[in-house]
Amino acid sequence: MPYQNILVATDLHEECHPVVARAQDLANSSGAKLMLVHVIEPMAMAFGGDVPMDLSTLQQQQFDQARDRLNVFAEQYPGLLPEHRHIAYGQPRQEVHRLAKEQNCDLIVVGSHGRHGLALLLGSTANDILHGAPCDVLAVRLKKSE
Ligand code: AMP
Repeated sequence: MPYQNILVATDLHEECHPVVARAQDLANSSGAKLMLVHVIEPMAMAFGGDVPMDLSTLQQQQFDQARDRLNVFAEQYPGLLPEHRHIAYGQPRQEVHRLAKEQNCDLIVVGSHGRHGLALLLGSTANDILHGAPCDVLAVRLKKSE
């Protein structure tokens, strides 16, 4: 059975383009719908949930920036319609699984690696997404950036 609904998870870094390109090839060859998701990890989570200040303005700015970056990132993929570009807020594993179920996805595509900055401390998103996934997961091998 060819895949019908493919969800690509992206951290929006340049290195993630081969992941989307691979997913688009798969979608083209199987006639599948292609969707993209970027998950914003809340500030409070990055700081251990213990920040004594109101983060709502910061979160709104984070969201607006992510939306702009997602649109620029997705523009070069004609198969990625604006209504198929999703932004979620929370833990990447949880949000990617939730969206995959909600959109009846039969394949999630991630990069094998892509950690940057603070996130380096937190372990592998690709690995997290693989565990307990509601459908197949393809990890596209990426070269490590130094
Ligand atoms: P990592 O395990 O953090 O090196 O990231 C591996 C892959 O997980 C990336 O190439 C993306 O496909 C995906 N990923 C990482 N962070 C996010 C995020 N915030 N939102 C969606 N996907 C992500």
